Amino acid sequence: MSKVLVIGCGGVASVVIHKCCQVSEVFTELCIASRTKSKCDKLAAELAPNTATKLTTAQVDADDVRQVIDLINDCKPDLVMNIALPYQDLTIMDACLACGVNYMDTANYEPEDTDDPVWRAIYEKRCKEAGFSAYFDYSWQWAYRKKFEEAGLTALLGCGFDPGVTQAYCAHAQKHEFDTIDTIDILDCNGGDHGYAFATNFNPEVNLREVSAPGSYWEDGRWIEIPPMSIKRAYDFDQVGHKDMYLLHHEEIESLALNIPEVRRIRFFMTFGQSYLDHMRCLENVGMLSTSPVDFEGQQIVPIKFLKALLPDPASLGPRTKGKTNIGCIFTGKKDGKDKNYYIYNVCDHQKCYHEVGSQAISYTTGVPAMCGALMLLTGKWNKPGVYTVEEFDPDPFLAALDQYGLPRSENRTPALVD
Ligand code: NDP
Repeated sequence: MSKVLVIGCGGVASVVIHKCCQVSEVFTELCIASRTKSKCDKLAAELAPNTATKLTTAQVDADDVRQVIDLINDCKPDLVMNIALPYQDLTIMDACLACGVNYMDTANYEPEDTDDPVWRAIYEKRCKEAGFSAYFDYSWQWAYRKKFEEAGLTALLGCGFDPGVTQAYCAHAQKHEFDTIDTIDILDCNGGDHGYAFATNFNPEVNLREVSAPGSYWEDGRWIEIPPMSIKRAYDFDQVGHKDMYLLHHEEIESLALNIPEVRRIRFFMTFGQSYLDHMRCLENVGMLSTSPVDFEGQQIVPIKFLKALLPDPASLGPRTKGKTNIGCIFTGKKDGKDKNYYIYNVCDHQKCYHEVGSQAISYTTGVPAMCGALMLLTGKWNKPGVYTVEEFDPDPFLAALDQYGLPRSENRTPALVD
């Protein structure tokens, strides 16, 4: 019996809300709030006839802490799920602290305005000290640890698939498969085809910022940064086949390096088709990925926001996308004194997701773990005061919930390794 406030009503939130409505015995009431209330109303009207979960909707600008506080006071939830954008992480965390409510999200904080001089000074210092230059990092949200501890509240960060399930896979490998882990390779493969020459599977702004940034990996206690897309490998993915993949910086490497310090190397690879890469390179070369406003005929236009308006809405890709995703982690290490390799992954079918919840597998593989993370918090399995990432909790009940609610694991004890 619990009441949850979901902030955001885009591609991922739609899956979260569909899945919560399938578990009405825990999610008894859901308030769906977003910037555009009509999207919340439409979804609530669609779901209400087939669920016992009581649905209400509200309008909120989550960039404004005051508005979020008023909404929380109005709705009185047991948990706030931030499924809006990473830009809103800190304002929503502030509101949760002010109102004494647990918090969770699916991506770590990054600012919308990367030209803000106050943010930029801190960012540039961090780039030098830490050795990677992604706009996002955990420092902003880890700075809330003491506040959440003192308030007796839990903040669960990055509970999608990657970040999220990939860290639960690491905790599982540590708990059940290895005495010591030597290397972790996280492999994110999307074998889906939506038929467009170029489209992004989730929010284009967040996606293109991530993919066009320099890559980096963790090795022997430090970050190694490389030019964007400059390390390429091929892998034969179960149920998908051969794909090219590229080394990217990814947020969970940062928390895993801290929480599993014995690991010598952690890398993240994502597959991309040639058409996606050609389009992205061209758009970047002409300045369309820039987040800095330009003056156009007397109006200020942010190129990447304009591009977002031109690209297909990721939420509209569901009916067109065919094929499967395969996301997981390959580990090397030792068990009982012997060398061991282990691969744990999930395969998800775009069309099956569409028929179940009306979304493609990228939103599905993010939304289901978010619902399962909320389930862990609401049923008391993952509550400890402070700010935590997924690998800091017991992976067993979470992976069991994923098996049950649509993202079952597969395992391979003799996997091909990535060189
Ligand atoms: P969308 O752009 O589809 O949806 C974002 C939603 O947030 C929209 O409903 C939008 O409202 C709303 N929103 C934006 N700004 C505000 C605001 N200021 N106040 C209130 N609501 C706001 O994004 P996705 O659903 O694709 O992604 C959601 C999150 O999931 C992102 O943080 C993304 O980074 C993360 N993600 C995580 C993954 C993982 O595996 N961990 C993988 C994929 C995504 P409006 O409709 O008005 O625009």
